[in-house]
Amino acid sequence: MSEKESLLRHTQRRVFVTGIISAAILATLAWVGWDAALDAYANRLAEEIRQHYTLKLTQDRQVWQQQAERLRAQIEFMRLGELPSEERREHLRAFFTAQGEYQDFAAVLVAHANGQPILTIGCYTLLLKGLSLIRAKRPNRHVKGDCPGEEAVYWLTHTPLWLGKEGKGLALFGTALDHSYLTRLAKGRDHLYLLHGGRIITATGSIDHGLLVSLGEVPKRTDSSLLIALPIDSNKHMDGSVLVVHHTLDPLLPMRAVLATVGVSALAIFLLISLVLGNSLRQHLLRLAALAKGARAFTTRFTRDDTWRQSLHLAQLRTDEISRLAVTLDRLMQVAETRQREQLIYRQTLDLLDEVVVELDLTGRVLCASSAWARVCGSDGDIVGKRLTDLLDPDDVPSFEVMLRRLSVNDKLQASTRLRLITGQVVRWLEIRLVRSPESRNLRGVLRDVTQSYLQEQRITHMALHDALTELPNRVLLEDRLRVALRLAARNQSKVALGFLDLDHFKHVNDNLGHKTGDALLKALAQRLRANLRVGDTLARWGGDEFVVLLPQIPSYTAAQNAAAKLKAAVESPIEVEGQEFHLTFSAGFALYPDDATQPEQLLAHADQAMFYAKAQGRNALCFFAEMAQKGPSKNEIQLQQRLAAAVREARIVNHYQPLVDAKSRRVIGVECLARWTDPDLGPISPATFIPMAESLGIIRELGQLVWHRALADARQWRDIGLDLRLAVNLSKRQLFKPNFTEELLANVLAEGLSPQSITLEITESTALLDIESATDRLAELKAAGFRLAIDDFGTGYSSLSQLHEISADELKIDISFVRRIDKPDGERLIQTIVGLAASLGLKTVAEGVEDAHVADKLTDMGVDTLQGWYCGRPMPPEAVVDWVRQWPQQSEKQGVR
Ligand code: C2E
Ligand code: CA
Ligand code: CA
Repeated sequence: MSEKESLLRHTQRRVFVTGIISAAILATLAWVGWDAALDAYANRLAEEIRQHYTLKLTQDRQVWQQQAERLRAQIEFMRLGELPSEERREHLRAFFTAQGEYQDFAAVLVAHANGQPILTIGCYTLLLKGLSLIRAKRPNRHVKGDCPGEEAVYWLTHTPLWLGKEGKGLALFGTALDHSYLTRLAKGRDHLYLLHGGRIITATGSIDHGLLVSLGEVPKRTDSSLLIALPIDSNKHMDGSVLVVHHTLDPLLPMRAVLATVGVSALAIFLLISLVLGNSLRQHLLRLAALAKGARAFTTRFTRDDTWRQSLHLAQLRTDEISRLAVTLDRLMQVAETRQREQLIYRQTLDLLDEVVVELDLTGRVLCASSAWARVCGSDGDIVGKRLTDLLDPDDVPSFEVMLRRLSVNDKLQASTRLRLITGQVVRWLEIRLVRSPESRNLRGVLRDVTQSYLQEQRITHMALHDALTELPNRVLLEDRLRVALRLAARNQSKVALGFLDLDHFKHVNDNLGHKTGDALLKALAQRLRANLRVGDTLARWGGDEFVVLLPQIPSYTAAQNAAAKLKAAVESPIEVEGQEFHLTFSAGFALYPDDATQPEQLLAHADQAMFYAKAQGRNALCFFAEMAQKGPSKNEIQLQQRLAAAVREARIVNHYQPLVDAKSRRVIGVECLARWTDPDLGPISPATFIPMAESLGIIRELGQLVWHRALADARQWRDIGLDLRLAVNLSKRQLFKPNFTEELLANVLAEGLSPQSITLEITESTALLDIESATDRLAELKAAGFRLAIDDFGTGYSSLSQLHEISADELKIDISFVRRIDKPDGERLIQTIVGLAASLGLKTVAEGVEDAHVADKLTDMGVDTLQGWYCGRPMPPEAVVDWVRQWPQQSEKQGVR
């Protein structure tokens, strides 16, 4: 703001202009008033003067009339008129001459009634003119005489005169209204002029020629004098003889002086106003200016420093609106300052975060980024203004652009993705989460370096998909590849062969030569098999001594037979391990797509059945499902299936319970329910055999119901005698997808008077993730109903971090196969990874298959929460549980449990 535009300047200008205008108005008013007053005065004076002279003239005329009458009386008394005409003239002349001293008459005429003059004295023409006027009864009583050498106006007075026997005559007298008369008439300093026919006849004193010019405009007033005209004859108009009075006015205040006085007073008033009002106004304006200055200072620095404080002090010198404004402003500034400080703190806090807080425009250009950018992305260059896409791995750019587009067209309000960022030689994995801010149309979000967890996930994924011993794909990967192969074959109308290989009598190797040798032999065998397969084929380890081969794009049945025979031959040639030679054989079962089955599960089941059949034929046999179908199913298998169906029907499946022990306190916290089936002839059969069989026979739901109701009844009994045990129950895939499953479970639990919080439902990892969408929904439903959820056999399935996030589980059960390998580096690392992962997701961990104190302690040290295994207790019938729980504290002490 320039000085010119200041409020003070503006006000000064206004005050000045107002002063000038009011002075002018004042002067005009004074002038008009003065003039009017002067006019009134002059009019009054003129009237007085007019009256004075009118009266004077009238009085003079009366005197002259009286004189004329007196002369007539004397003439008549002396009977001069009656004298004979010759004497009469002489006597009359003598009479008038004798009277000359006191008479005012300059001309006399005596005449007969018919106008015949008898005697004339003075100007003859004047007398004749006067006579004719009187005879004509014209009212003019003054007349201008034109006798040579004399120009004067006369006042005519006449009277009748007795002429004896001649009858009545008349006498006419003319009084000269000359210089001496006017001098006598003039009052004070008045100058008188006698005009006739517009011409000056005579005047008192010298004739003012300047005045002569203005005589035409009488009456007239000037500053110093008045000009008044009045007729000599009172009842005559101005066209006769006129008396003009030039009256000098008493000295008055001149107009210039009046104007000057008015000007000076206006100036004085103006000065007074400016002094009083202007000064206080100035004070206010200065205070306002101080406020403005302070506010300006604040907006540039955002702190109320000394400048501001001084300005504030100045503005608060008085208590009025300005000071109140100052107080309000101070409060506002305080708020702004606090906000500023808060923002700074937020920024500093943001800088502490590991995440980068960014703002992007819709093209992915970085508008601002928190300082964590340098740390997280290892680049110290300024990112602001650059496009994020320029820094990404080219493979990730399209998906990022799609995300930006979807955000920009309001398709999505927020989105997140993982991208690779390339800085120099380093590739980092970033998780980027963006929201569109509706007010600015920009994108705000958070970038996080997830390289570590990504690599960890990769490792887990690899471990999850591969068998640790042989490095071959495991079941999960196999099933995945099988599904892909079938889809491809369906499109190409080709065949797929799937084979189950089970080593004959491998148990002997383990039992006689130990696990170590067994493991080495399995590794060597895997290599041998692998070497005899083509590139696109898959060899997977199914578990123990079972392998599966997947041969996609097999042209024919015969080709499959040839491939199988080749494998068989490859295995039969001796294998050398640790200096020993082994001769191995296997039983193999094959099934073909689409000949034997079109669904993956079916194909697996059929290959398995063919393998079972081959084994039943006396081992070292190769069987194709098609052949088996012709020959009919294996007698043993069918027998077993029938026995299982009967056992389920007759409810001969019983429950055993295995304790779950808290790792730190070593207190029993619950039991896992495990199904047991003992056939009267065949003896105990492992659930690992009969559970899958029940699944493929379609009786798993009945079996599950049996186990479930028994388990609830047992749990109720324990609770009734005061044992507080959590109950863990295994669920199979088919059970999970039963309609109204959750409602039923909840109803059962409540019917027994138990709470769902005391029940843990165990679902294998592969089941939980199989059909991720619907499984997730169902699990969320169970969770919402109050049940605890455990992911069983964790590590054998394929779960990514994000999937684990989505499943609302409470605990992870580390698979027995990992616990077995705890003393090997990879096993230990894997358990550690799982424990870390669980902790980061807020999940508890349970370790299965804890067989000795060493493993128990090691797991405890690694942070596992719950232990389960023979070391704590084997699965036991329900009636043994109460005693076991009671003796456990002493036993655990005896065992030297910490
Ligand atoms: P799982 O749920 O992982 O159960 C743990 C298995 O490990 C049980 O085998 C148990 O006896 C065994 N085990 C426990 N501690 C040790 C130990 O210290 N060392 C060794 N070597 N093994 C130990 P089990 O009873 O043979 O059950 C096998 C699988 O059958 C179970 O694995 C579970 O998946 C399934 N299963 C058992 N009962 C049921 C059931 O009622 N319903 C369903 N759906 N599945 C069941
Ligand atoms: Ca289980
Ligand atoms: Ca398990």
